[in-house]
Amino acid sequence: MNTPAAASAAGASVCDVLVIGGGPAGATAAALLAERGYRVSLFEKARHPRFHIGESLLPANLPLLERLGVAGAVKAIGMEKWGAEFVSPWHAHKQSFEFADAMDKSMPMAYHVRRAEFDEILIRNASRKNARVVEGCQVREVDFLPDNAGALVQARHDDGSIETVHARFVLDASGRDTFLGNRLNAKRRNRKHNSAAIYAHFSGAERNPGKAAGNITI
Ligand SMILES: Cc1cc2nc3c(=O)[nH]c(=O)nc-3n(C[C@H](O)[C@H](O)[C@H](O)COP(=O)(O)OP(=O)(O)OC[C@H]3O[C@@H](n4cnc5c(N)ncnc54)[C@H](O)[C@@H]3O)c2cc1C
Repeated sequence: MNTPAAASAAGASVCDVLVIGGGPAGATAAALLAERGYRVSLFEKARHPRFHIGESLLPANLPLLERLGVAGAVKAIGMEKWGAEFVSPWHAHKQSFEFADAMDKSMPMAYHVRRAEFDEILIRNASRKNARVVEGCQVREVDFLPDNAGALVQARHDDGSIETVHARFVLDASGRDTFLGNRLNAKRRNRKHNSAAIYAHFSGAERNPGKAAGNITI
């Protein structure tokens, strides 16, 4: 019985939506679906809180955080960000923009967050909304069944045990792991967009004064 397809569906647990990955995308989708009464299982291979890159939120995230019911919790861990400052490698001029000056003035502010804290707020919220959240559990195989019968998903828990789930829908929120993209060989390189991302953390950096202290510098 090496593949989920070979596993008997009778031995599998059942859910409406199986979410692969408990980052912001997976935890948000799981919370919203569970709130609507769907049976949701979310499998996250790591355990929260865990480090992740991507700390600078955008103003349009805030209405979604309200909708999820976590706005207060994120405010408590966040650093306010009211705008952005563009710097140039070629001259000393700096140009700042405030989100409040955008055409849509309804979203004047965002936050910087530590992703370990932010992601944990979101995944605990998904649990509270009755999604079944399982950490330390890596999805290994997904076999889509014929006749739109959903999929058999096989995952490995940290203790080595294997779990099979029969899901009506599979939502791949595995982030840069691109679980299904790899399995389905669906990833295509865009040769016109050969970019790479790097990150570093700095201490002792000088902040802008006042409200601009949290501006993102680009
Ligand atoms: C250098 C850099 C800087 C960035 N800066 C910003 C920024 O300032 N602001 C911003 O908004 N975004 C930023 N981003 C982008 C941001 O990191 C991502 O958009 C965001 O993390 C995507 O969230 P996600 O939930 O889709 O995926 P992720 O946060 O990556 O979550 C995916 C989760 O899936 C889990 N997972 C993966 N495979 C499996 C599996 N097989 N089984 C179970 N679990 C699995 C992983 O452990 C992970 O927890 C940056 C990215 C990079 C690379």
